[in-house]
Amino acid sequence: MTSKKILNADLHCHSVVSDGTLTPEALAERAKTNGVELWSLTDHDEIGGQHRAAAAAKANGMKYLTGTEISVTFAGETVHIVGLGFDADDAAMQQGLHATRGGRGQRAMEMSASLAQAGIEGAYEGALKFVGNPELISRTHFARFLVESGVCKETSEVFRKYLTEGKPGYVPHRWASLHDAVAWITSAKGVAVIAHPARYKFSPTEEYALFTEFKAHGGQAVEVITGSHSTQEYLKYAETAREFGLAASRGSDFHSPDEGHTDLGILPFLPDDLTPVWELLEDRIQ
Ligand code: AMP
Ligand code: MN
Ligand code: MN
Ligand code: MN
Repeated sequence: MTSKKILNADLHCHSVVSDGTLTPEALAERAKTNGVELWSLTDHDEIGGQHRAAAAAKANGMKYLTGTEISVTFAGETVHIVGLGFDADDAAMQQGLHATRGGRGQRAMEMSASLAQAGIEGAYEGALKFVGNPELISRTHFARFLVESGVCKETSEVFRKYLTEGKPGYVPHRWASLHDAVAWITSAKGVAVIAHPARYKFSPTEEYALFTEFKAHGGQAVEVITGSHSTQEYLKYAETAREFGLAASRGSDFHSPDEGHTDLGILPFLPDDLTPVWELLEDRIQ
């Protein structure tokens, strides 16, 4: 495997197995069309699409790394930890993710009750129509229902007005611990990556604690180039990668052709001096 940093790697996206709208096969074709050379499907808290994604990558002539994006609670906030290159058949990893998915059904019913109090009826049933995986009902599915029913014009508006802290439909939830998420990934021979660090509402002290504890648990990389970051944030987290001695990852976080602005593989390359995360995973690339 080449180690060049200009490799078109897209190591973060979602399929119908979590809260994306495309199948793993359709995503693979779209990634190929967009010039992706190394791909990973990183469904939330779920690795049920991994074998399909690896096969679809192969059929399209792309290299593949296994992937997932684990929901973690750290300092009272939800943080996402991407896992790459792990053994998708690892039992502890599968069990940990199953447990992490566990509370989603109950949370969804509470979200629906909260929306009903704000005058929006039938949100649970409405969101379910968009769900591809019954174990993985997500805020994204509620957002699609609120757009379909005309409450909001687009999903980004939903997250400004609903489903986030202090807004109707928000239900606090406890996810996996940072320690456990990193341990599941590394014990299954993968690399743990802090996803889109600019998205968290941490003070500088809390952010420092996140990176310090992540490293202490065995985390090795951070997303620097992601669809969730601005150009300034690319620079900021490139510097954080240098400061903490972390490798760098790159991924669109693509969910749907109709939502968001970053398509598969269409984003800047990693800064030249950083170690690309795939250099740590050369023997795990399929
Ligand atoms: P959940 O895991 O159910 O809490 O849902 C989290 C998902 O909601 C994320 O993975 C995104 O897909 C989506 N999401 C969260 N915040 C936003 C936002 N501001 N704009 C669009 N989508 C968002
Ligand atoms: Mn998502
Ligand atoms: Mn995320
Ligand atoms: Mn994501």
